[in-house]
Amino acid sequence: MRLFDVHCHLEDPSFDVDREEVITRAVRAGVLRMVTSPLGRDQVLRSLKIFSKNEHVLISAGMDPREFISKPKASELISLVRKIGDMIVAIGEVGLDYKIARTEAERAIQREVFREFIRLADSVNKPLVVHSRWAQRPVLRVLDEMYAVDVILHSFGGNETDVKFAAERDWFMSVPTSITYSANIRKVAKLVPDELLLLETDSPVMSPHRYGRNEPANLIISAIEIASIRGISTDELSDLTFSNSCKAYKVVF
Ligand SMILES: [Zn+2]
Repeated sequence: MRLFDVHCHLEDPSFDVDREEVITRAVRAGVLRMVTSPLGRDQVLRSLKIFSKNEHVLISAGMDPREFISKPKASELISLVRKIGDMIVAIGEVGLDYKIARTEAERAIQREVFREFIRLADSVNKPLVVHSRWAQRPVLRVLDEMYAVDVILHSFGGNETDVKFAAERDWFMSVPTSITYSANIRKVAKLVPDELLLLETDSPVMSPHRYGRNEPANLIISAIEIASIRGISTDELSDLTFSNSCKAYKVVF
């Protein structure tokens, strides 16, 4: 069995005590590839130091949703991405978080910053990993207006219309381990077309046990659940999502 965790945060301080063991446990559980998403310039640099020689961990350069509104933080990250180039596989997570941005003025700035990242991803030819909270429809609208092509909608919680909209544009959608307690995520897990389905843990958050630290080894828990929702075997689901993940991140193993 080969599993691919398309989105987690392994540089998070909660992994400082046992990071190596966490990765070993993941690999033993069949999670052969993990894309970690450091948030902001400093975390990206730290992540490069920790993981650049680890064959199981790939890096995507993103931002903390609380900083989606910060143009200086965004420019800092954009210039770093232009320097480090192929040491990362993707841009993100970036996107819109309307739970954090409550006023229309703040939301407008988030959209402006998001557009900058869509342009960046396009210019460096990397996929874009997109965060959306309370903002599924606005995220889809901005991506569409900008003609975004290589898109991974991480932890996607849209409704049937949103999933259809994304699927028509061949945007990948990833299902988090919180599926064990979220009826909405279960719905998404059923609706996403085969060729666009991805799996993620978003570790250390979104634990399938609801509380406590999440880790990539837990991906198997949601894989079993999603396979049963879709009426296929866990092996078939893992093969399908592993190969989709390679396509989504344009990597070969
Ligand atoms: Zn995340």
